[in-house]
Amino acid sequence: MSFETLGLSPVLLRALTEQGYATPTPIQEAAIPVALSGRDLMAGAQTGTGKTAAFALPLLERLFASAAPAPAGGKRKARALILTPTRELAAQVHESLRGYGKHLRMHSTQIFGGVGMGPQMDALRRGVDVIVATPGRLMDHMERRTADLSGIEILVLDEADRMLDMGFLPAIKRILAALPKQRQTMLFSATFADEIKQLATQFMRDPAEIQVAARNSVAATVTHRVHPVDASRKRDLLLHLLAADSRRQTLVFSRTKHGADKLCTFLEKSGLRTAAIHGNKSQGARTRALKEFKNGKVTVLVATDIAARGLDIDQLPIVVNYDLPMVAEDYVHRIGRTGRAGAEGLAISLVSHDETRLLRDIRRMLKQDIAIANVAGYEPERALNLDAHSSSPSSRPRNPNHARRPHHTPSKGHAAANKQPRQWQGRGASAGAARGSR
Ligand code: AMP
Repeated sequence: MSFETLGLSPVLLRALTEQGYATPTPIQEAAIPVALSGRDLMAGAQTGTGKTAAFALPLLERLFASAAPAPAGGKRKARALILTPTRELAAQVHESLRGYGKHLRMHSTQIFGGVGMGPQMDALRRGVDVIVATPGRLMDHMERRTADLSGIEILVLDEADRMLDMGFLPAIKRILAALPKQRQTMLFSATFADEIKQLATQFMRDPAEIQVAARNSVAATVTHRVHPVDASRKRDLLLHLLAADSRRQTLVFSRTKHGADKLCTFLEKSGLRTAAIHGNKSQGARTRALKEFKNGKVTVLVATDIAARGLDIDQLPIVVNYDLPMVAEDYVHRIGRTGRAGAEGLAISLVSHDETRLLRDIRRMLKQDIAIANVAGYEPERALNLDAHSSSPSSRPRNPNHARRPHHTPSKGHAAANKQPRQWQGRGASAGAARGSR
């Protein structure tokens, strides 16, 4: 299957060749023809599967590539709206959209909080074709009447489950109410909890349903490794591991903002170029941290789960769980930052005895073995006992559709364009794809 046979115009095909995309990913193969037909679409796909192009390409094709030129005179009215949960994802989607549409006469803008309203108002006043926005800031513009959504023909809800987790349902409903009824709606979500289905029933017309990869699946190219260690020695072990190859870009997850700051200071004092990204940082600091991590100025980025979704950091070889996530499903989102687009990845977890239950949950969810190895000199006083039957209430089977992640503030940042030519090797087809039924 090639992009040509999916029915895309030469101007889009040219941009794809320039991006180095040779063949469509499974979600692109499944979603693009349906989306091109104008039908509503509900797609189950995680980040890292190529879902941005799966909605952006048909969107651009339908609005611009094969359309007659817009009549001269009169202000441009926005024709497509893409909603994302976080600022970082909005910036990333916007950048991808611009890359795919670089040979089209398309005007687009990104709208999110944490930065001044002024430039956004100016862009909206001048007129754009496509708006990529987070729900909160878009609502602000709607209230000030600086965003006109009356001409929207295509709506995309990206990471819909995440938006609901973050409490955006009321904002989404108000935005939906302001849109023309006659439109195409595409909803992308990693999970299909009941609220998502309700949203679809209420606001979509007979959507086609597409599911490409098993939920909670991880890329087959990621190696998982656990190092048991006493909680008090975690930071020394981390330093030991990082120092072994201090040039490799590493994303380190910490459970709390305070913990992330402390760890960042410690690593910096130890001579590693480190930055932290979490919800208490100013938008400027967050954008800078991500940018410097992406351009290699900083080699270690310490993050809370805010960075666990949606960010596409090119060629990220290692993700370290300094603390295990409280919800096993978040492990998948965290390590989804590595092993993207068929690349090799390594997921290292530093696990102390009190996290045994969390590790057990993760192993059960992944349905695959994780190599557990002591690091010489850092052996824990109490070994992990993974075979014991857990009776703790939180390890009981539960419906992962209802898994709740901690609340995060939406955030913003840059995304590196992925210019290197690469062949999609198929995350959706990953062997060992595990289901989330616990
Ligand atoms: P996404 O899931 O949209 O965040 O995409 C994940 C990564 O895959 C991004 O770096 C994309 O640029 C890349 N990508 C998307 N589609 C393709 C493709 N057909 N071939 C190669 N890389 C792709």
